[in-house]
Amino acid sequence: MPDETLFTKIIRGEIPADVVYRDDLVTAFRDISPQAPVHVLIVPNHVIATAADVTRDDERALGRLFVAARQIAEREGLEAGYRLIVNCREHGGQEVPHLHMHLLGGEPIGPMRTRS
Ligand code: AMP
Repeated sequence: MPDETLFTKIIRGEIPADVVYRDDLVTAFRDISPQAPVHVLIVPNHVIATAADVTRDDERALGRLFVAARQIAEREGLEAGYRLIVNCREHGGQEVPHLHMHLLGGEPIGPMRTRS
């Protein structure tokens, strides 16, 4: 597992980001290339490379991703709903090898999957 990723640098404040939430287990910031009016990435503070690498030691941080998502969604006014996505490895379209949850909302997000 890498100790350092693009997202650990954001979490430590070494790369600028629009951080919207931070606690002892997770950090959330706005996606640099938003795919919806609200597009936030919620990231465990410790590196888990992908969803295929999670262990029982990660359970608290992974649970906190959902609690943080709910709190951020409330603050962002997403009462109409939103989508949570975790891409995993190459076929899942994962680009950054530090597990993260996308929170997308602010308009209807559309079909769950489009085939290209
Ligand atoms: P994924 O494809 O699931 O790995 O998602 C990676 C996401 O990170 C993409 O939506 C990118 O737009 C986003 N991203 C890449 N670099 C940054 C950055 N410096 N700050 C915020 N978001 C970023």
